[in-house]
Amino acid sequence: MNEPLQSIIGKTTEEITKIVLGLDEAAFRGKQIADWIYNKSAESFEEMKNLPSSLRTKLNEQYRVGLPEVAHRDVSSDGTMKYLMRYSDGVTVESVLLPYKDRVSVCLSTQVGCAAGCTFCATAQGGFTRNLSAGEIVGQLLRMQKETERRISHVVYMGMGEPLFNYDATVDSLRLLGSEVGISLRNLTVSTVGVAPAIKKLADENLPITLALSLHAPDDALRAELIPTAKKWKLEEILEACYYYAIHTRRNLTFEYLLIGGVNDSLLQALALAELLKKSKLPGNVNLIPFNYVDTKRGFRKPVKSQVEAFKETLQKAGRITTQRMIRGHEISAACGQLRQRVDSVKIIPLETLAESTV
Ligand code: SAH
Repeated sequence: MNEPLQSIIGKTTEEITKIVLGLDEAAFRGKQIADWIYNKSAESFEEMKNLPSSLRTKLNEQYRVGLPEVAHRDVSSDGTMKYLMRYSDGVTVESVLLPYKDRVSVCLSTQVGCAAGCTFCATAQGGFTRNLSAGEIVGQLLRMQKETERRISHVVYMGMGEPLFNYDATVDSLRLLGSEVGISLRNLTVSTVGVAPAIKKLADENLPITLALSLHAPDDALRAELIPTAKKWKLEEILEACYYYAIHTRRNLTFEYLLIGGVNDSLLQALALAELLKKSKLPGNVNLIPFNYVDTKRGFRKPVKSQVEAFKETLQKAGRITTQRMIRGHEISAACGQLRQRVDSVKIIPLETLAESTV
């Protein structure tokens, strides 16, 4: 049986140069290939017109570029584009592109499915399939850059999967985005459910990225109902790891707080959250995310608009800068895992539920 061809996306210029030398070609060809891949989003060796055809032939025999295919694309009226990306083994993940006036931001997946099992999340319902490689993570961005012909400046790791459960590939992909694609590391954000030991490890990587912690509850008991991994890593341990992160990287953190109607959106819970963060001595804003409707076993619902406002005000009065995530791409199911669910027809989410916006 033939070995699957190795992908070039995911390799550094240095690694590509070694490959080129191994094929008896001049070292500078490595830089040319890296430029085609990371700056010009080439998807085949044929496109690399400044390479001798002999080299293109040799590359074709052993390698492939490795850009994912677009299996599906939805465009929202606000310009948000949601992609379903397909890799060579047929698995799919979601990526989202958010164009703003002054910048273009994308949301990337790190795993096919997710093992964290959060009870409110569409991705969790499909279970876990496999990790993505660093090249597969970066490939999502390159594909969107190619499709839209827009330079992407900001990246959030908030798509499918738990980045810190796929630690090595996540860190390698962050380095590639910095050194090969040329995006400022300060514009990269990794979001986690709170894998305490991995947060500390990440702090020691010397990467000036932003860490976002998905808090979603002010105490361990409620948090464990929403996020199963909260039974393993308690808030005290997670916040202590975040403190280590803040001290070592000198970067602020972001605390994400999903608001689910009647579950975690009371004003007492807002006060408890403010107190928890104050005790932790951690700097960083709270970002409120109103629940994007997913049909869950628990029957979770969206929070009412006035409650989101009151929750926000309570936190702000307690001295915590609080923002609310802009609702974008509603009609294209832009919450984590929703597009794949719809396209795969695992479960059809009624569109009228998605369009009806209470926030
Ligand atoms: N595993 C990581 C990153 C992926 S999820 C993490 O948990 O942070 C990215 C963000 O989307 C998380 O804050 C997650 O809680 C949130 N999210 C998941 N499902 C959602 C939904 N139905 N509505 C709104 N936000 C959701």
